[in-house]
Amino acid sequence: MSVSQFKSFMECQAKTLAELKGEYSRPHSNALTVGSYVHAAFESDEVFSKFVEDNRKVIVNTRGNKYADFAQADKMIQALKNDKFAMFALEGEKEVIYTGELFGVLWKIKVDNINHRLKIFSDLKTTQELSKRYWSDKYSKYVSFVEAYDYVLQMYVYREIIYQNTGENYRPYIVAVTKQDPPDKAVLHFDESRFEFEKEYAQTNLSGIVQAKQGEVALNRCEKCDYCRATKQLNNTFEIEFLLE
Ligand SMILES: [Zn+2]
Repeated sequence: MSVSQFKSFMECQAKTLAELKGEYSRPHSNALTVGSYVHAAFESDEVFSKFVEDNRKVIVNTRGNKYADFAQADKMIQALKNDKFAMFALEGEKEVIYTGELFGVLWKIKVDNINHRLKIFSDLKTTQELSKRYWSDKYSKYVSFVEAYDYVLQMYVYREIIYQNTGENYRPYIVAVTKQDPPDKAVLHFDESRFEFEKEYAQTNLSGIVQAKQGEVALNRCEKCDYCRATKQLNNTFEIEFLLE
């Protein structure tokens, strides 16, 4: 299990299993490439140069200029590089992989930055605006991008797996930079009480995911994602009230 696989199963079991079986692949997302581009810039100069080379066609136009999304990404990278505090929070070993066991399942994590001297780890996140609100069914309220994208869950899982590997409780941080022009930025920490909720959430939902993965139960279809829309077969009508569910 990984955090992204867990999140994907929570969104739609049918889509995730089809993806794992190689029967379905997500459409190309420019936003995802932009995110990887920003990450690569903080990993190392070599990684960044290689990333730009490998993705030249989507990053640079025929005149040799960067497309708007990547020109904006350069501003986001500079916004962090010009900030000593943000760069301090991003210091450490990059892209470190650990494995461990949580609730009877083997997990693999990849940490953006881990600083063994300070016993902290941090994850770089790009987002639209720091204070944007998102409705969350999971939390039954409006939440920030951090909860909306399950980054608290991610930090909880990472902290546990890091503990299993090092015997120490590392403190998690998110270094956030926005897609605004000029970009906004923040280094975020977490109140300890948030992790108890994520622990219960992961524990409660994991058995259903494992059963789905092993083919023991009928898969839930969200009926909203691109996979469900592409494979949908109607067999009934529904009252218009359910359109907004
Ligand atoms: Zn779906």
